[in-house]
Amino acid sequence: MSTFVVVGGDAAGMSAASKAKRDNPDVDVVVFEKGEWVSYGACGLPYYIKGEIQSLDDLVSVTPEEFRQERDIDLRTGHEVVDIDPANRVVTARSADGEVTQAYDHLLVATGAEAVLPPIVGLEREGVYTLGSMSEGKDLREYVGRARSERELQQPDRGPACQFLETCHGPVGIVGGGYIGVEMAEALAANGFEVHLFQRGDRILKQFSEETSESILDHLGDQNVEVYLGAAVEELAGGDRVEAVVTDDLRVPVEMVLVGTGVRPRTALAADAGIEVGETGAIATDAYRETNVPDVYAAGDCAEAEHVVTGEPAYVPLALTANRHGRAIGQTVAGTPTKGGGIAGTAAVKAFEMEAARTGVLDDALAREVGFDPMTATIEAKSRAGYYPGGGTVQVTLTVDRPTGRVLGGSLASEFGEGAVHRSHALVGAVTEGITVEELSNYDLAYAPPFNTTWDPVLTAAKVVEGKR
Ligand code: FAD
Repeated sequence: MSTFVVVGGDAAGMSAASKAKRDNPDVDVVVFEKGEWVSYGACGLPYYIKGEIQSLDDLVSVTPEEFRQERDIDLRTGHEVVDIDPANRVVTARSADGEVTQAYDHLLVATGAEAVLPPIVGLEREGVYTLGSMSEGKDLREYVGRARSERELQQPDRGPACQFLETCHGPVGIVGGGYIGVEMAEALAANGFEVHLFQRGDRILKQFSEETSESILDHLGDQNVEVYLGAAVEELAGGDRVEAVVTDDLRVPVEMVLVGTGVRPRTALAADAGIEVGETGAIATDAYRETNVPDVYAAGDCAEAEHVVTGEPAYVPLALTANRHGRAIGQTVAGTPTKGGGIAGTAAVKAFEMEAARTGVLDDALAREVGFDPMTATIEAKSRAGYYPGGGTVQVTLTVDRPTGRVLGGSLASEFGEGAVHRSHALVGAVTEGITVEELSNYDLAYAPPFNTTWDPVLTAAKVVEGKR
């Protein structure tokens, strides 16, 4: 009988806990979660705020009771682990009832990430929100509901007609043009808010290709989202409540601001225990996601892992990595040593009536750092056979290593439903397996008129890049 202790009860933690118990019921599994929610899908919060998902409970995949009763996991919510003592293999957790200690044979640190708040004056004002947790999601949805009903009372003639039709509330500001900023622009605009999005750099969605960013930017403009590029927000001005977003040359009146400027791994607990933090700032792990301390693992948004293209440690805090690495650790702890696999940095985003995806390495400087000589090309092609009704355009950017032709990364954009995201999966295979663009151009992809042209846009992109190499 051994004891597996997990710190953090979301994607990484509960995947590991469930897998360990399922594979080896003799393992005692104890999970400490400082909050009340476990196994929740923060990824669904923008759609909950938008109003497409009615209840926060719908975002929970397994309830605490199910973990306890059906999976036989000793889940202790409301317990924050405040100390790890690797020498004695003990953790200390604090709850409303005081402190408890718990011995472990195996330990997983799955503490997630926390919002990075830039040095902006006025972040403490009422009406300034972040969106990293279920309770923050609840607060934002309550704000949206309040603002809408107040405005509908003031404008009874417009009433529910404003819903999804025309701007009637706001204005509101979003600081940060990453995927959460973009998803929230859609969520707020769909509720009738006039949305102003401030991005410090020269493009939104900077992890995607420049062409993808440009396409989504144009689309945000079409949807009446005012995007300010090169706009470093200095102050959220106002009295008790926020009243304006201020940059060096702008002062935009707002009634609410969402700050979505990225996350950093939550590593203090691990670092204090002598667990090594890597050069990305996240917890360093080997292929089994074990840290430098024997039998102590780390996974999810608090940990780094090797990138499938560069072979170097990378930090890409996304949900599948957390689930995948957590599951592998659970299997290891249950008795079958299992590698969780590297990360390709694959991500997807929906922006109003468009979708986009990216994978691999698109950044020339990063590619050069690890010895590649990158070249990039972008094509646009029809998403379905020309004679088939409907359809749109898929834009594909491919980055390859010029001398060898190895596919390093890809980025795609299309109208929503026209397949940019699903097409990216072929590129994930290519970057993960290290194949060349010529080999990619010979992939035997599925074809039928309602789904693509005979030569899928991915194949067309590969042929074009191969021709230019
Ligand atoms: P977390 O989900 O952060 O969970 C960590 C848990 O540890 C928390 O519950 C925390 O309370 C607990 N904890 C921390 N410290 C302690 C302690 N000392 N003691 C006890 N408990 C502790 N990813 C995607 O791939 N696709 C998406 O579309 C997507 N959309 C997102 C949208 C939003 C709004 C947000 C916020 C995130 C989104 N993500 C998305 C990211 C995804 O949610 C995370 O990658 C995933 O939740 C990481 O899981 P985790 O278990 O590593 O960490």
